[in-house]
Amino acid sequence: MKGEKEEGGEAVKESLEILLSREQIAARVDRLADQINRDYENKKPLLVCILKGAVVFLSDLMRRLTLPVEIDFMAVSSYGQSTSTSGIVRILKDLEYTVSEKDVLVVEDIVDTGLTLNYLCKNLLQRRPRSLKVASLLDKPERRKVDFIPDYLGFSIPDHFVVGYGLDFDERYRHLPDICILKRRAPVQD
Ligand code: 5GP
Repeated sequence: MKGEKEEGGEAVKESLEILLSREQIAARVDRLADQINRDYENKKPLLVCILKGAVVFLSDLMRRLTLPVEIDFMAVSSYGQSTSTSGIVRILKDLEYTVSEKDVLVVEDIVDTGLTLNYLCKNLLQRRPRSLKVASLLDKPERRKVDFIPDYLGFSIPDHFVVGYGLDFDERYRHLPDICILKRRAPVQD
């Protein structure tokens, strides 16, 4: 897929290259769900989906779970229109329900610097859940600024900015069924 976007009066060329196909994602989500079904046997985990990027992962993952799950949502400050992290984490939407005495499984799209999940896990632990684990579809370990290892991981990927399967750039591309590398190129000046 190719496109152009106006930025400061200039058209920035964007192109997409498939990194993980829908088939690869489906097969991996199957295996993650098997593992979660085993680990949480006889439990009723609360899946905490981090908006908005993780919604597609959540909806695919939860339909493969044979457990009586509950779901809730949190939104934290995102990158906005930039592809670099600000390092500042702000809760934009908090959980509806209390997590005390619950087995909380945070469902996230991607771990990059680790700042978001590091902050979120500390915040959730203060609310005294029975247990707290993290399932992330993607991980970019090269960019880590704080130690963070997700308990369940879909794919470890190289340091590229990716979109699709819920992940956006400036609110675009979330609907793509594959995970793609977004390449942006400013026009060459004469
Ligand atoms: P961290 O705090 O780990 O640096 O960033 C986590 C958040 O940054 C993710 O939840 C996601 O919203 C955003 N992010 C990090 N890398 C990418 C990427 O390659 N593509 C997109 N669309 N978002 C990313």
